[in-house]
Amino acid sequence: MTRRRLTVLDPARPDRQVRVARALELDDDDHFHDQCGVFAVYGHAEAANIAYLGLHALQHRGQESAGIVTSDGEQLYAHRSMGLVQDAFSAEQLQKLPGRAAIGHVRYSTAGGSHLRNAQPFAVDYAHGSMAVCHNGNLTNADEVRAELEAQGSIFSSTSDTEVLVHLVAKSKEIALEDRVVDALGRVQGAYSLLFLTQDSIVAVRDPRGLRPLCIGILPSRKDAHVVASEPTSFDLIGAEYVRDVEPGEMIVIDGAGMRSSRLPEKQAPQMCVFEYVYFARPDSHLAGRSVYEVRKDLGRKLAEETPVDADVVIPVPDSGVPAAIGYSGARKIPFEMGLIRSHYVGRTFIEPQQSIRHFGVRLKLNPVETILKGKRVVVIDDSIVRGTTSRKIIKMVRDAGAREVHLRISSPPTQWPCYYGIDTPTRRELIASSHSVDEIARYVTADSLGYLSLEGMLAAVTGSPRSGAAADTVGSHAEHFCHACFSGKYAIPFSQTGKRQMRLVGV
Ligand code: SF4
Repeated sequence: MTRRRLTVLDPARPDRQVRVARALELDDDDHFHDQCGVFAVYGHAEAANIAYLGLHALQHRGQESAGIVTSDGEQLYAHRSMGLVQDAFSAEQLQKLPGRAAIGHVRYSTAGGSHLRNAQPFAVDYAHGSMAVCHNGNLTNADEVRAELEAQGSIFSSTSDTEVLVHLVAKSKEIALEDRVVDALGRVQGAYSLLFLTQDSIVAVRDPRGLRPLCIGILPSRKDAHVVASEPTSFDLIGAEYVRDVEPGEMIVIDGAGMRSSRLPEKQAPQMCVFEYVYFARPDSHLAGRSVYEVRKDLGRKLAEETPVDADVVIPVPDSGVPAAIGYSGARKIPFEMGLIRSHYVGRTFIEPQQSIRHFGVRLKLNPVETILKGKRVVVIDDSIVRGTTSRKIIKMVRDAGAREVHLRISSPPTQWPCYYGIDTPTRRELIASSHSVDEIARYVTADSLGYLSLEGMLAAVTGSPRSGAAADTVGSHAEHFCHACFSGKYAIPFSQTGKRQMRLVGV
């Protein structure tokens, strides 16, 4: 993603709006970004290949770097590289990763920059053997703990918050790895779904609030082969069966004796990230027992109830807007059409086009279907608006294709606050909804009307329909089980002194 600073948007100053739009013309992916996916396998002769396939299915959670560390029971073998999974590993490199256990990671940087030294898993040798770790989430007090460790003589090789955990585990006075991990986690705050690998075991831990997802599966052909992943969709590719989610605050150890579970001492109410349902997770995943695809359709139905409009056709912004658009279309009985076609062959574009062709940025990804749009009153469904720049370009594209009216509907509430729990978000000032009303945003994106789903509507949709075989009070079945800080500003985790300073800097 091309990252550009956004000048505060002032609807009373059209000249300023133009300047903002130009500054961001190449930034054609106006979304919050999940930054990491994690995957582990234990007890399989082809652990590296299984991890590779698992990471491939988690590619949507991070595209900057990929890494796998394996264990053959005696030592660890690591390969990490920048880029997509398919580019990061060749067949030869996978062959150099022997063993029956592996952990892997795909990364989109938040804490720490985009450098190979920050690519995970981190692997180290220390007094008690070898250890590798990878992390989805963000430690909110990592800077403070790091400063403390550096003052005591620790030397860091990366700028990633995850390395803080490596030092804490290594310095712990406990003997068993799981006790060392518990000891280390007692020092940190924030969001984490973590995987540790030693010569003979895998440890998987989810933070006490369960902010980031983590689930367990089993390979039916080898009953002792377990897998752990950010999303169960990664199990399908390798023929693994989903067993269950790792519960918030649960630690799973998998070794030669099988799988065992224990609880972290810290107890908190669940706070799952609601944005996983809205955008981050793959639609063919399920989280906390609910199909992401079905939840997104429910979000679309709720949106139709709350923000009805008379129109001839409902079109999604593909791919993430598709299920919500189907839900909206069904509820309003307005035909659903694919009025925008996404090119699936666009990777990153490194060209810096001349001014005359700069507006082709979004067109590289999306193209309108004129026969569907011409002369029509069109409802465009998207999952969120971050800066508004992409929505503006899409609406222009739909109008240029002949649409008579363009109504924009968003299947989540206005995103007004940054995320500190492992999601790449702009500063508060850059979020258009933090300083502009819905009407002002509608004018900026040039929509005939704009409607967002309410917070209550979103929470009703994500807790709504039944989960297969789940008890009524299952995690995720109540609105209180969800973090929605980026919509509401209600942050569940207290900020450390450093965090408070960061919050002031970004205008929270
Ligand atoms: S602030 Fe938003 S993106 Fe971050 S964890 Fe909470 S719901 Fe998810």
